[in-house]
This record gives sequence, structure tokens and C-alpha cells, in this order.
Amino acid sequence: MKPEMRIGYGWDSHEFKPGILLKIGGVTLPHDKGLGGHSDGDVLLHAITDALLGAIAGADIGSLFPPTDPQWKNADSALFLREALQRIRTAGYELVNLDSTLILSMPKIGPHADTIRKHVAELCGIPGDCVGIKAKTPEGMGTDNAAIANVAVLLKRAEVGDDTEDLHDVLNVIEPPRV
Ligand SMILES: [Zn+2]
Repeated sequence: MKPEMRIGYGWDSHEFKPGILLKIGGVTLPHDKGLGGHSDGDVLLHAITDALLGAIAGADIGSLFPPTDPQWKNADSALFLREALQRIRTAGYELVNLDSTLILSMPKIGPHADTIRKHVAELCGIPGDCVGIKAKTPEGMGTDNAAIANVAVLLKRAEVGDDTEDLHDVLNVIEPPRV
């Protein structure tokens, strides 16, 4: 029997670069710099993706979507998240809630936290009050030109999917099918 619950943890960082859009949690924020590197540089969606994959002990985001592969250049990171959600479903789990902490000096996340929360909840298919978005400034860390995201997720065993057979067996024992 698979564990009833699983936790996952994800971490990511990207460097600020001028002349590109800043996307965090799938939301474009007003700022004069964006996050460079892999795909659209969405540090939060990458950390969520890795947390989901880690929860089912799967391959990480870098193995599934190598930054060296040109097809992922400027890619929408929601694509990576969708793949991770599909993989946890295939593994027989569903996402219960997620919590995140962003660490960046600029821009201030507070005014946008609610928009990010709602968007991430929609992308993940969970209620808005099951997504935590917190932000801190990197005091004493010397990472003022980077954005860092930490994410924890909780998964529960899905009632459908891989466990359907087991569930039917149990129901048949409790209440035999009527004829
Ligand atoms: Zn990343």
C-alpha cells in the first residue's frame, strides 16, 4: 500500500537580467528586470514543480526539461508544472496544499501576493486558501541580484486513478454489488 500522504520540497534561484519580463507564479510583475536562465525564469513555478516531483521521488525538473535543450528556451513554466501534476496523478496522488517563501530584494511581492496566490491555485487546481505565498528580503545574504524560491507541498493518495482497483475490492467486501 502506498503512503497515504507525502511531502515534497523544492528550491530554485535565478539571476535578475535587464530587458526581460519578470514572471513569478505565472504572473508578470512590473519591474525593470526579469529572471534569466531556464525557460521564462519563473523561479516559483520551478520550485513548485520540483517539490511535486520530489514528493513522488521522481526525476527533477532539470532532468525532465534540460536547460541545454533549446525547445525550453523562453518556455512557459506552467508547462513544467502541468507535467509534474500529471505525474503525481499517474502515481496515484493529488495535491492538498503548498506553501512557499520567496527571497528577493526587489520588487516588493506584498502588493502582488494575492494575485500570485490565486493564479498558482488555479494552475494547480486547488483552492486559493491552500496556497501560501510569503516573501522576504535577503538580509545579509548578498543575493540582491537573485530571486530564490522555497516550496513545500503535501500530497494525499487519490481516491481514483491507480487505486481504483483496490477501492472496488474494498467496496465489494463492504457492500456486494446489487443484482
Ligand atoms: Zn528555475
